[in-house]
Amino acid sequence: MRWLPLVTLLLCASPLASNARDAGSGGAAAQPHVAGIVAADLDRSVRPQDDFYGFAVGGWIARVQGPAYMSGWSANRELQLGVYEALDKDVQRLAKTPDADPDHRKLADIYASYMDLARIDAAGLQPLASYFEQFDAATAPRDIVRAIATLSARGLDIGIGTWVHADDEDPTRYLADFVQSDLGLPDRDYYLGTDAHAAGIRDAYRLHVERVLSLSGTKDSASLAQAIVSLETRMAQAQWTQVATRVPGATSHRHTRAQLATASPGLDLAQFADGIGIPKAIDRFNVGEPSYITAYGALLTEVPVPVWRAYLRQRLIDHLARFLPEPYREEADRFFSKTLYGATASRPRWLRAMGVLEDAMGDALGQLYVRYHFSAEAKARATSVLDNVIAAFRRRMESSDWLSEPSKRGALSKLDHLVIRMGAPDRIRDYSSLVTRPTDAVGNWLRARTLLAQREIDKLGRPVDREEWTMSAQSVNGYYSVSRNQVVLPAALLQPPYFQSGADDAVNYGGLGFFIAHELTHAFDRAGSEYDGFGKRVEWMTPPDRAEFERRAHALIAQYGRYEVAPGRHVNGELTIGENIADNSGLAIAYEAWRRASNDRPAPVLDGLSGDQRFFLGFARIWAAEPIKKPADVAQALTDTHAPDPFRVAGAVTNQDAFQRAFDVREGDKMFVPPAERTHIW
Ligand SMILES: [Zn+2]
Repeated sequence: MRWLPLVTLLLCASPLASNARDAGSGGAAAQPHVAGIVAADLDRSVRPQDDFYGFAVGGWIARVQGPAYMSGWSANRELQLGVYEALDKDVQRLAKTPDADPDHRKLADIYASYMDLARIDAAGLQPLASYFEQFDAATAPRDIVRAIATLSARGLDIGIGTWVHADDEDPTRYLADFVQSDLGLPDRDYYLGTDAHAAGIRDAYRLHVERVLSLSGTKDSASLAQAIVSLETRMAQAQWTQVATRVPGATSHRHTRAQLATASPGLDLAQFADGIGIPKAIDRFNVGEPSYITAYGALLTEVPVPVWRAYLRQRLIDHLARFLPEPYREEADRFFSKTLYGATASRPRWLRAMGVLEDAMGDALGQLYVRYHFSAEAKARATSVLDNVIAAFRRRMESSDWLSEPSKRGALSKLDHLVIRMGAPDRIRDYSSLVTRPTDAVGNWLRARTLLAQREIDKLGRPVDREEWTMSAQSVNGYYSVSRNQVVLPAALLQPPYFQSGADDAVNYGGLGFFIAHELTHAFDRAGSEYDGFGKRVEWMTPPDRAEFERRAHALIAQYGRYEVAPGRHVNGELTIGENIADNSGLAIAYEAWRRASNDRPAPVLDGLSGDQRFFLGFARIWAAEPIKKPADVAQALTDTHAPDPFRVAGAVTNQDAFQRAFDVREGDKMFVPPAERTHIW
């Protein structure tokens, strides 16, 4: 119920949006003197000087309880749910009253097919029959590689994926990069973890694999399940850690087509490239983790073909379980949602349907969102926030006290070449060749995912498109792409608590301003700073400046490494360093942007809160989240590249002089950090 006001607001936003457009209003109009801080979100029994996060969102945490089908609830999940609720109504309306837009008919077809459980139950596993035939006919490793390529071309990776991106040696052209990819469990740590929770998950996973095989009529399901889990464990052992794959240049291993064929005995990557449809004329490739590919090849020759056949069958069923009859849906729900992720109820079908539409036709769904729920007025005001953030970033670089002149020129040049886009893409993906039927849930999904995978392959040999978006407008999120030097801020971000068109600037710069500055900072985080304004890997910092950057980064690594997710389980400072740099510098830049927007005039005190206090409260509010307690949530948090939300807030604010001043934090207070120990990078 608690997200109802949000949904109402979203739905009300559409007529307002068109009025605003007609009236030509927008821009940096006189700002309303409304604090934008909800008193009930705060917990005034907590001293902000000791626990700022608890003070800022303790009321929200006490008041809000997430749905049982979600483990771990947060302000961001609440927002995303509100977006999906609104879109669900839109799609249902399209299904009832079709219009002339072919994309709308396709969205309605996919939705109808997905919701038709009676038809799905009646179809059994028949929609997968041709795949099972291919698997069962395999008698040699080459046949298995062919089947793996067949699945990969439909968007299902069996431990190997293809990532098409701008070549960091020549960012005007695309490169096909073969990388380690999905196993059945979410991260290698789940296979290799030595704690009791990890061991329990592995046991439950083995039983899950056994059930899936036995449900689908496979004999010897228990011994095959055992063999599959040990096969995946060997893959996990050979996979590189997330930290290792993030070191710029570490995954750079160019190959010709001839070299691909011999890179790994047992796995002919040239055959795989053919299998996923890469044209023969393409002769420049990359292999991200060569030692993993070698190990994968060894597994293809050492592990008996019948184990691989069963493995392919199980992974395909798991991938498509939501489109399959009830026993498969229930088994996937029981293991993945409940055992693995800790939910206590099943996610409603309509919500899963939104996920299906997003993954199948995300841009078309985004067009719906923008049409009915995005206000041009909000965009105009958010654009002025964006402009001020860019200007503040520039000013901070120019006046940096640790960057030499040559490095400043490199940084400013990179900033000048950033492609920053907000709202929705001008040009969306073309779905005209997608065939959909209201009666074919599995077919719709596989055709949509095949089209997306094929579109990636088709990029090879074409010039790089720096305007491409890899996130859709309805995502409450944003990203920075190193290879395109591009920041994208989707339309769905422009809503409370990120952005309140009726509130004064302080809270909006703490929310949206921070988020924008965070994404911009990724261009200059530990990995991002090793690339130039066009996505080419070049060093633009002088060696002493790089050493100083690393010294400061290490201070953050140590700071976050002290935070405990659970007793004895610490945040991985190395894994989260990119995000932590973006949080710390993003907050400093957003603060300066807000001061700039206010012409450095003192902000009014509203609801008893100073402007500076509202700025930091606005920042903390976007990270409101239920505390991490359940082992499933701890396991997830430890493999996330973001620190848990309370540490994102505490970690970033304590390094800010303005925060220490705003709340008069003094020596002896828990949030106090002596000025000399506060880390500043950008
Ligand atoms: Zn980030």
